[in-house]
Amino acid sequence: SFSNTTALKPLSIKLVQCSKTFGNGAPALEPIDLEIHPGETLVLLGPSGCGKTTTLRLIAGLEFPDAGGRVLFGDEDVTDLPIEKRGVGMVFQNYALFPNMTVGENIAYGLKIRKMAPAERLAKIDTLLEMVHLQGLSHRRIDQLSGGQKQRVALARALAVEPKVLLLDEPLTALDAKLRETLRADLNQLLRKLGITAIYVTHDQGEAMALGDRVVVMERGKIAQIGSPQDIYYRPVNNFVADFIGTMNRVTGVGRAGQLSFSAGAVPMAAVKDNQTMTAMFRPEDVDIVPLETVGAEIFGDVMSTFFMGDRTRLLVDIGGEMPIIVETRRRGVWHAGERIGLRVPEQAVMQLPGKPWEGE
Ligand code: ATP
Repeated sequence: SFSNTTALKPLSIKLVQCSKTFGNGAPALEPIDLEIHPGETLVLLGPSGCGKTTTLRLIAGLEFPDAGGRVLFGDEDVTDLPIEKRGVGMVFQNYALFPNMTVGENIAYGLKIRKMAPAERLAKIDTLLEMVHLQGLSHRRIDQLSGGQKQRVALARALAVEPKVLLLDEPLTALDAKLRETLRADLNQLLRKLGITAIYVTHDQGEAMALGDRVVVMERGKIAQIGSPQDIYYRPVNNFVADFIGTMNRVTGVGRAGQLSFSAGAVPMAAVKDNQTMTAMFRPEDVDIVPLETVGAEIFGDVMSTFFMGDRTRLLVDIGGEMPIIVETRRRGVWHAGERIGLRVPEQAVMQLPGKPWEGE
């Protein structure tokens, strides 16, 4: 049973007008408002230096916001409380374990400080080891563990003290790709099972999509967008988000009878008015390769290069524009550079940025 491992009622967290300026430079974080729902996993995603870690450290109590900013845990104002008074568990990229202690001693460290009785402590260690799939490894030394195992120990140690909130800063970044995927799946399951409020920092969009109930995309100290992974992927609010998550194609053309028309062809777009100039966006995996003689809204181009990726093939297709169209298909086939092909984008896959539907006006 996991019920005795976390606080019963998950906590909400609120950042109110929290900014952070280091020294006399530009602010690392502009004033942000952010609400984390009880029990959700919120992922902070963005390029290096955008302020993810700073935001996490403000929540942890490892940094304090500039004057005026407030941090709330539930109804409690914790703005001035240091980390040890906030009841947070943290997991870092570099494990931060005690290397000359055993697995069990590492996990029990916080429990000892809290003067938990030895028998109870041992039982608790067992529960936690089972939870992170490390049964039987209590007596191993840390330096005899793989990177993935170390990170599992770090997670167990963070959970041992029954934190109200779990904070994870790039916990999987140091691991190789295969291991990262396994741990990502386990972590996903564990976070759901525990129902603990968790904040997860990463620059890896795949990780963000897989783990986040909601994702916050950050850009230069600001929140660019906050929403479900689907929101972020299918309804990006600006070009930064559209290009940071996945790959985005763009075509600019003019409206003609419910299509956006350009020299190489057209894509369907019910919203476009005749003769209006617009830019449409669509994802590589949403482009269908169709026979050249197909009738309907479609694009014609020349294959520039192809990349076989195992489960799919990526094609760069020159349509005479500034940028080639990128196509990803799961169809088995071989396409050759110089080959002329037809492309079609289904209407539901065509996106526009909100607020700038008519670029030509
Ligand atoms: P990364 O993925 O590289 O860790 P990040 O998105 O987590 O990036 P932060 O670590 O929050 O970004 O840093 C945001 C900005 O604040 C950066 O420009 C960084 O150099 C600066 N910064 C962070 N911590 C400090 C500090 N202690 N002193 C001075 N500047 C800092």
